Amino acid sequence: MNSASGFPSTTFADVLEGNAAYAADFPGTGLSGRARKGLALVTCMDSRIEPLQLLGMDQGDVKILRNAGARVTDDVLRTLVLATYQLDENRILEMPHTHCKMASATEDEIHRQILDENGVDTYSVEFRTVSDQEEALAYDVRRIRSYPLLPRDLVVAGAVYDVHTGRLSPRDY
Ligand SMILES: [Zn+2]
Repeated sequence: MNSASGFPSTTFADVLEGNAAYAADFPGTGLSGRARKGLALVTCMDSRIEPLQLLGMDQGDVKILRNAGARVTDDVLRTLVLATYQLDENRILEMPHTHCKMASATEDEIHRQILDENGVDTYSVEFRTVSDQEEALAYDVRRIRSYPLLPRDLVVAGAVYDVHTGRLSPRDY
């Protein structure tokens, strides 16, 4: 493990260059930090997902929460409580996607794979893999709806994003 202190500029050279170019032309956004469309999106960290583009939204429109598998964790619920009461979110879309690694391997398979390839025993972590994506989506939508600290009039919906077609398929949960 690299424990050297100081910012690793060589490793992050592209990041810093990219930001320098961005900041050079930065016009300022005039945005407040509240999502204009009142929408919070819970989705996966998969790099094939471009949340704003696929929803036809712009910067400043949506709060985006991402993790492996788009699962509703305690931290997602914590963030949604803040987003609803303090940042005016009034609707939540729970959006897993097709061909998700979290839905194509078991908890045990991923632990074993990491152990075999990296020599690290990760069994103390729960990855929250999904054996049935529909069932997990229904469960996660219900989990948000039933969370007692969230507003009663919050609208919660589920939809699956297809990474091959770009299409979003709403579900009737
Ligand atoms: Zn995924």
